This record gives sequence, C-alpha cells and structure tokens, in this order.
Amino acid sequence: MAFPKTGNLGFPRMGAHRELKFALEGFWSGKQDEASLLSVARQLRTEHWKLQHAAGITTPPSNDFSLYDHVLDMVATLGAIPKRYAHQGGPVPLATYFAMARGSANAPAMEMTKWFDTNYHYVVPEFEPGMKYALLSAKVVDDYLEAKSLGIETRPVLLGPVSFVLLGKPTDNNVTRTSVLEAILPLYSTLLSQLQAAGAEWVQIDEPCLCLDLNDEARLFYQKAYAILRGVVSPKLMLTTYFGDLAENLDLALSLGTEGLHLDLVRAPQQLEALTSKEINGPHLSLGLIDGRNVWRTDLDHAVTQIESAVAHFGADKIQIAPSCSLLHSPVDLDLEHSLDPEIRSWMAFAKQKLDEVVLLARSIGGKDKIAAELQTNAKILTSRRSSPRIHREEVQQRLDAIDSPMLQRHGLYPARRKTQEKALALPFLPTTTIGSFPQTTEVRKARAASRAGKLDAAAYENFLRQETERCIRFQESAGLDVLVHGEFERNDMVEYFGEQLEGFVFTSNGWVQSYGSRCVKPPVIFGDVFRPQAMTVQWSTYAQSLTSSLVKGMLTGPVTILQWSFVRDDQPRAQTCQQIALAIRDEVQDLEAAGIKVIQIDEPAIREGLPLRRADWPVYLAWSVDCFRLATSVVRDETQIHTHMCYSEFNDIMDAIVRMDADVISIECSRSRMELLDAFHRVRYPNEIGPGVYDIHSPRIPSGKEMEDLLRKALEVLTPQQLWVNPDCGLKTRGWEEVRHALTAMVHTAKQVRASLSA
Ligand code: GLN
Ligand code: ZN
Repeated sequence: MAFPKTGNLGFPRMGAHRELKFALEGFWSGKQDEASLLSVARQLRTEHWKLQHAAGITTPPSNDFSLYDHVLDMVATLGAIPKRYAHQGGPVPLATYFAMARGSANAPAMEMTKWFDTNYHYVVPEFEPGMKYALLSAKVVDDYLEAKSLGIETRPVLLGPVSFVLLGKPTDNNVTRTSVLEAILPLYSTLLSQLQAAGAEWVQIDEPCLCLDLNDEARLFYQKAYAILRGVVSPKLMLTTYFGDLAENLDLALSLGTEGLHLDLVRAPQQLEALTSKEINGPHLSLGLIDGRNVWRTDLDHAVTQIESAVAHFGADKIQIAPSCSLLHSPVDLDLEHSLDPEIRSWMAFAKQKLDEVVLLARSIGGKDKIAAELQTNAKILTSRRSSPRIHREEVQQRLDAIDSPMLQRHGLYPARRKTQEKALALPFLPTTTIGSFPQTTEVRKARAASRAGKLDAAAYENFLRQETERCIRFQESAGLDVLVHGEFERNDMVEYFGEQLEGFVFTSNGWVQSYGSRCVKPPVIFGDVFRPQAMTVQWSTYAQSLTSSLVKGMLTGPVTILQWSFVRDDQPRAQTCQQIALAIRDEVQDLEAAGIKVIQIDEPAIREGLPLRRADWPVYLAWSVDCFRLATSVVRDETQIHTHMCYSEFNDIMDAIVRMDADVISIECSRSRMELLDAFHRVRYPNEIGPGVYDIHSPRIPSGKEMEDLLRKALEVLTPQQLWVNPDCGLKTRGWEEVRHALTAMVHTAKQVRASLSA
C-alpha cells in the first residue's frame, strides 16, 4: 500500500459523553458486571475507528484505547506486575489490573505521575528484582484484529521499549534499567512479529522520551533497542516523538533506522528546517502540524507552507499529515457545543475537527490550489480572531505594566512572619488540617446539576450548600482538626470555578479530557485578557468562618495552575496570560484578608508539570511562574498565613523554586512515593513549614493509624517538629464520607499521640 497521506496518533478514549467513565465507575461500585464494562469499551473503540476512517484517516490507530492507562496496559502486556498483587501468571485479570491502578485491600496502588508536561497521569511501572517479564496480554494484537474484523485497517500503537524503561522506576538498587530493557526487548520483538503475522503494515512506536535531555546511557538504550527491533520480522515502524524538540537527539532518532519518523511541529516547528538541512534520504515523515493539545483552529496557510517545504525536500510520497501528538489531550467534538459563544466557537477545533484539518491539509500535498477555498475561509476566521475587540482590554494591560518588584515581596522575611503568625494563630505544634475539598457526594453533584439546569432555584441551592458546609465544619470540629476548611461544595472543579467568575474565559459543555483513570477534567478556555469583576470566594469563606471559633482556611487556585489546566490562548506568551491571572488572584487574596480570613491557601499543584521538557528552558519558566505565585500572594500582612499545596511532584528538581515561592506552609503529596520527597526538603534545609501528606487520598484504601504514624516519624527524621503539619496528601473530593470520617479521625488521633510522645 502507498504511504498513507493522513495519520493520527491516538483518539480520546472516554467517548464524547464520557461513556467509559460511567462504565468504569459502575463496574468499580459493583453496579455493572465485567461483561457490560467490556462491551461499552468495545463499542467505543468501534465508534472511534469508524469515525476516524469516515473522516479520511486511512489507517487510524489501534491499541490507543485503554481501560485505565496505556502505560499500565504495557505493564500488564509485559508482565511487569509487582509482587504485592500476587499475580499467579497468565493473562492479568481485570481485578489485578485495577488493583495496580487504584489499590486494593491488600496492596496499595502503583504510583502515578504526570505524562510529560500534560495533565494526564500515567501509572509508573515498577521494576522489581527478580521480576519475570513475559507477554501476558494479547491486547495489542486483539485490538488490531478487532478493527480488522470491522473492515478497518489500523496502525497499532506501542509505547516504545526505551520510553517504557525510562518512564518506569527500579524499586531496588540491584535492578538496572539495562537489565529491564534486555528482558523486555525479546517481548517487543515477539509482539512486532505477531502484528506482522496479523497483517499490520505499520506500527506506531511512541518514543516521546526522545524529546528529553538524554544521558549517554539512554542514548545507548535507543541504539541497542532499535538495532534489535530492526532485526526482527516486523511491520514498518513509525517512530513517534512529541511534546518537544528532538534537537540534538535528531541524529540519534534518524540513526535508529525506522521506516518513519513523526515530529511535533506545533511545539517545535524548527525541527522541519533541522531535518531539511540534512541532505539525507531519510525515513517517511509524519508531520505533526495540528495542535493535539489545544482547542484552536490551525493556521492552515502556515501549515501549507511547512508541507510545501517538506514535499520539496523529501517528495510528496514520503509525507503524511497528522496531529502533533495523540488527541487524547483534546476534547472530542466541537459539534456538541451548542451553547458556546458562536464567535469564539468559530475559532476552535476539537479532536474530530482536527482530523478534518488533517485530511484537508493532506489534500494540499502536491498543490495548495486544491484547497484554495478552504484556505481563504480559514484566513478570514483567523483575521477576525486577531482583531476581535473581545480579546484585548486596555485596563488589564495598564495593570500589567505597573507590576514592580515590591509587589512580589512579602513585608517581613519568613522568620519574622513566623513569630507574628505564632501569636496571631496560636496553633499547637504538628497542626492538623486538610487540603480543602470534602467528598463531592452524588447529592452534591445532583444539586449542582439541578441548579444549573434551572430545576433548583438559587436560594434553595444556596441553602443546600450552606447545610453541607456547616455539616463539614461540625465534622472537622468533632474530629479535632486545627485548621478547618469550608469543604468546597460549591465548586465543580478547582480551575473551572474560578474561570467561570473571571472575564476572558469561556466554557464548553462537553470539552472533557482524561486526567487519570475515569477522572476527566473540562479545562476552561482562555480566549482573552483576564480580569476579576468581583470577589469570588469571600462569601463562602466568611460564612464558614462565622460558624466556628476555629481557624478556617481560605481556598484559592493559583495562577500557574489555572493557566496550566486551561486551554490557553496562543496569541500571546503564556507568562503574560499567567500574570493577568495572578493579578486577579491577588485581588481575591486581599479581599479574603480584609474579610477576616487569617489563613489562605493558594493551590499550585501544577507548577511542576509546567516545566519545559528541556532543562535549558527551566530557569525562564521557573522565574515567571514563581513570580506569578508571589504576585498573587505577597499582598497580605505578615500575620496572615499563606499556604500552598502541590501534588504528584518530583520536587527534587525544583526545590529552589519552591523555596523562592516563600509560602509559610506547603502541603505536598507524599504517601505514594513513601516520603522520598522529604529528602529533597531536607537537602535544601527548607526553612518554612511543611505538611507531607500522610494519607493517600487517590486510593479507596483507608490507612491505619500505625501507617500514618510511621510516615510522621519518618518525616520527623528530617524535619523539626516546629516545621511539620499533618494532613492528607490531596483534596478529599473523590472519596466517600465513610472513609474520610475514619481516616481523618485516625489522622488527628495519630497527630495527638505523636505530639504527646514528643513533649513527654
Ligand atoms: N484544594 C483542592 C482540593 O482540595 C486541591 C486539589 C488538588 O491539589 N488537585 O480539592
Ligand atoms: Zn493535590
């Protein structure tokens, strides 16, 4: 078959109406059986293949679908099942698969972390000593055959062996990544041969790690691995790289001898020139020209110029058009957005529309006049977007221009603030608190939905939220927590809630994107200058505070996280958009303080995931992102305590930035990576206060008091008792009240015990 002119690296799995989410959750809660879950999954795959095929994607991807996570699928495929799941060999049962993802009564879940700089979380493979790698699952081939039986030829997707090894973690110093790679390569060879035998012409082999800074060992891994894979009877390999620039790894990628190479030309358009400057008879090229990670229409004229240059150098028959990366990170279908502002909507494209762009651009190969009319329409839309008065606001620009360094600086230095706060807040040592949200029960969600649908009037909804908040305050009082929260019942999502109250944002009704497992987020869309027309949280915080004599923390989402978890305008630098958000949050912080709130938490769980993939680009990012946090928080008096919260962070790399944020207290996710992170805080002699999470809220498992005590004692090996706070590792909104009640009661009890033992 000739080289297909269109390609796609992956399609969103959840379904346009999040069918997979509901099927998974039905299955986990015991309301649905395995057969019905699998049938929903199968239906979704079918629908997605048909949709892509009908759009004109000649060989859409297969095995991009997953019941939880594609990295976990690879773990199951290669038999890298940690011992604690007591797998007896053979195909991995669904119960074991989900136990690895979510934990079970006997075994905590595997660690999760962010997939490169996206908000998608993957399950981190664990490489244990003596692990017996073996092909345990036939999913890769089965999915290919499933599509084939529908009459659709697909390009199976495999996470490449080197990225798999680099993304995983040896659990023991005796396990080397080299040994893991050696063990899994024969399995990859077998998989490729099986796919060849099944009839696949191309396989997409994802090696996103090629866009990272690689050490010599990793480069060697690539050379070794692909030398071996090239030697087997295999479909042609489309080596896919994305999220960044191959840069100095371009030669390495080309040397691997794969038949195809995919480049992310949205994130790193300069790669095309780097490639065309090499006079080589290189691989077939997949040009990632359509942004798989944002919602804006492509500038088709610009894309056509890139295509023309590629065609001139490599010939039309060597070029394929594709999205920049998997469309996993895009919402599914703009056609479902009926209530979006029509003008702003006309600037956008979701997964389905992006595939139309792919197909359209592919038609231009060998002559752009074939799509002249479409190019003209596209240019008109883009011009109208650029010149729309809805995007630019003079007063926002003026405030940005007026930012100066005193605005980024708290009045007193931390040691002085600490003394002032000790007096003002009178907290015990090892104070207990939570991260903010309490269970978002079915009732809470139902009430919100009813209120949105106009079935519950504003007063009734408000009343309901007041009751929930009061119940939450009373529970916290009875559990004996020191710093309470209002529970965040009024919030659908920590970013959406703020975006809805800020100017410059719009919201989709169905623009869901998978975050992890069944969890989806609906990122707001920042289309224009951001500002805050009025206070956003003061009413709920002051209401909660009025109910109790304990301290209630004000809860805000930080500017970097709002930026990071939104679809961001692409017509100005991200740093500038972030400053606009920081000013809005700064106003809110000031209003909370003025309303008598003494402790204010500004969550920044996304700071680390915003790190550029290449270290050389870190300092610039960390400088502006930390400055934005400081801009948002430095407005308060010394006695007001600023907290921040981060989760899933490998803090080691960004300790200096965390210190520079200068929050009085930071709470961090810690329980899954078993306090490793604390070493980092110890190393830099972190001067301020820290609450390393002692309760893993991402798992339904309730930790025992003993486990929490062990974690606290470990923390005390590296932190002083004056520095230590006691809290769960993240918000409780995904948990049930029953679990939360037990876990927090045990947590407070443990804190009291440790306190007593320390003062004895
Ligand atoms: N305050 C938020 C909550 O408790 C923080 C969530 C997060 O860190 N992702 O839900
Ligand atoms: Zn968190």
